[in-house]
Amino acid sequence: MSDELRECPCGGYGTLYSGRRFLLECHKCGRETKAYATKAEAVVAWNIGILEDLLAAKDKRIAELEAALWHCLDNGIEAQDALWRDAALAALRASGGSNAQATVL
Ligand SMILES: [Zn+2]
Repeated sequence: MSDELRECPCGGYGTLYSGRRFLLECHKCGRETKAYATKAEAVVAWNIGILEDLLAAKDKRIAELEAALWHCLDNGIEAQDALWRDAALAALRASGGSNAQATVL
């Protein structure tokens, strides 16, 4: 297992504090691990915590993009319906029905 620390999502870096136990704390935002018996355990906990946060942020972003996509699709379909309605009205009027009205089904 690598001892390489992942960068904190805030852009800061983890500082290792050691004594009887080991913990890592971000110098910038204060994010920290629990205290562990070994440096390797603290490093793994730090990296896993950051990966979990990154995954949660990506899941949130995917949900936002899905909502935006559905919003666009819904509005796009409504706009397309209006175009079809206007085209149908124009065709009816052109065929002699001056009082023609379209019914959107
Ligand atoms: Zn941080």
